Amino acid sequence: MVSKKEGILFIISGPSGVGKGTVIKEVLKLVPDINLSISYTTRPPRKNETNGKEYFFVSEEEFNRMIERGEFLEWARVHGNLYGTPKRYIEERLKNNEDVILEIDTQGARQVKKAFPNGVFIFILPPSIDELLKRLHKRGTEKEEEIQIRLNNAKEEFKEWEWYNYTVINESIQLTGEIIASIIKAERCRTSRLGWKGL
Ligand code: 5GP
Repeated sequence: MVSKKEGILFIISGPSGVGKGTVIKEVLKLVPDINLSISYTTRPPRKNETNGKEYFFVSEEEFNRMIERGEFLEWARVHGNLYGTPKRYIEERLKNNEDVILEIDTQGARQVKKAFPNGVFIFILPPSIDELLKRLHKRGTEKEEEIQIRLNNAKEEFKEWEWYNYTVINESIQLTGEIIASIIKAERCRTSRLGWKGL
């Protein structure tokens, strides 16, 4: 019979406020047998965030030490803070034939594309800029100044959508979650990812 040769890396990007976090929670409900990588960041935790759950929160010194030790698959400065993907965690999961989701910005995604050209790159777009701004305000986790930085960065990030494998417009969390779950399920059936294991 046939089976998948190795784990698949799914990379999800999209502007701040587009709903990536909520969409991913929906995807995990529909596809429980997948790992969500937890990034390291120098951003201070928000009120509802716990170390080791949304992120590993570290100091800039610790982050720089990790860069020097080559512990990141990719890292980038986003909205003024550093964010990085742990390399060993990803490599171990993939080698073990487990799939992994990364939720990272477009700079990080470009770096991952070089190391993992067979990764599946998914871009989430908002229905409109107005809608994005509304969601950023509604979320209420950033100050006005911070919202403006995120909005300006969003305009830069939009330019990147075309090189991603899939683009999903987030009209509704449930629908977007279902579409991404379908992409994951379809990619798992891609013939080029399968190997013959004998009868
Ligand atoms: P937030 O501060 O809102 O949690 O995330 C800000 C941005 O950083 C988002 O666009 C998110 O995708 C990105 N991000 C989160 N983790 C990583 C990471 O490990 N690497 C990179 N390059 N970006 C990340």
